[in-house]
Amino acid sequence: MDDTSRALIGSARSQPVSEAAAGAILTIDLGAIRENYRRLKARLNGVRCAGVLKADGYGLGAAQVAAALAKEGCDIFFVALLGEGIALRKAIGLRPDIFVLNGLPPGSEAEAAAAALCPVINSIAQLKAWREIARSLGRTLPAAIQVDSGMARLGMAPAEVEAVASEAGTFEGIDIRFVMSHLARADEPQVAANEKQRREFERLRKMLPSALASLANSSGIFLGPAYHYDLARPGAALYGVNPTPKELNPMLPVIRLQAKVAQTREVGAGAGIGYGHAHQADGPLRLATISLGYGDGWHRRAASAAWFEGMRLPFIGRVSMDSIILDISALPAGRLGEGDLVELIGPLQSVDDAAGHAGTIGYEILTSLGARFHRRYVGA
Ligand SMILES: *Cc1c(COP(=O)(O)O)cnc(C)c1O
Repeated sequence: MDDTSRALIGSARSQPVSEAAAGAILTIDLGAIRENYRRLKARLNGVRCAGVLKADGYGLGAAQVAAALAKEGCDIFFVALLGEGIALRKAIGLRPDIFVLNGLPPGSEAEAAAAALCPVINSIAQLKAWREIARSLGRTLPAAIQVDSGMARLGMAPAEVEAVASEAGTFEGIDIRFVMSHLARADEPQVAANEKQRREFERLRKMLPSALASLANSSGIFLGPAYHYDLARPGAALYGVNPTPKELNPMLPVIRLQAKVAQTREVGAGAGIGYGHAHQADGPLRLATISLGYGDGWHRRAASAAWFEGMRLPFIGRVSMDSIILDISALPAGRLGEGDLVELIGPLQSVDDAAGHAGTIGYEILTSLGARFHRRYVGA
């Protein structure tokens, strides 16, 4: 990444929007993230627990989340991309281990080594490149080795594992911190695919030099101790997404999203409301337009109501880029005015609720949350 693009990426979040200027306010409860970490640790019975911070900590701020988790003793973090690792290293200092899940693009090895990052090695080519950079630096370099136990996404295929296992000196200069794999269906505890992947993971890791092992993401932790190994790698559950979708959410909610009323009005029967006149008033209506739209990551099909003092205020007409019109006829006249806040995510509408309406998952709701919000961190 060159300096110009780094400055541009930095600018979206590093120029904070004041609460008064913002159209919407995102409150991130770092205390709840810490409590969720403790809840996962309690299930892990002494097994180590990392924090997954890819996509800027699932949209909530990787640096802030890392600092909160560090206070709970978490000293292993995972990001997806090298650029994320470099930024996180700058933010949190040299001590914690930072693993780069997607591996290193060819030619980026020196940059990764300079930032003291640990690649997750997903192929023989990546292994050779990392060995080469270790040799040229005259140092041993840390890495995790990922094997594909049955997801076909990232990691060495079984044939590659067999090939490296039979070749002398393959891991010279590499300190294998973990052998890891990832579960494709951990959120479906009843399917046989999980146990099949676990057995395949066992088979593959035995071919490699002996090292600590890691398999479970958030949902994987809830599959039981056989899946815990030496290190768990939760992301979503830390951020309040339900890791057990068929059961009550064992995690605390972490975010609250509130949007400001930009304007209110009254319309008469026959008024066409919003783009395409997708709704036509069949009687007098009171409306409030809020300053949040799909430009803030609110999917056009996500949950279609906001909440105010326990009252459901349905969206009316289409979601615009920067605004949504609410039907507030159920509220007394004048009860809601310019600058007042309504809630889009909170106690009455969870991240998972919003996702369900959009036919997506809580992960996508979180990582879509826009750069225009005023971000308020509480519970630090
Ligand atoms: C994203 C990811 C995780 C964390 O998954 P969650 O479901 O968010 O807990 C763990 N491991 C790998 C390899 C991942 O890509």
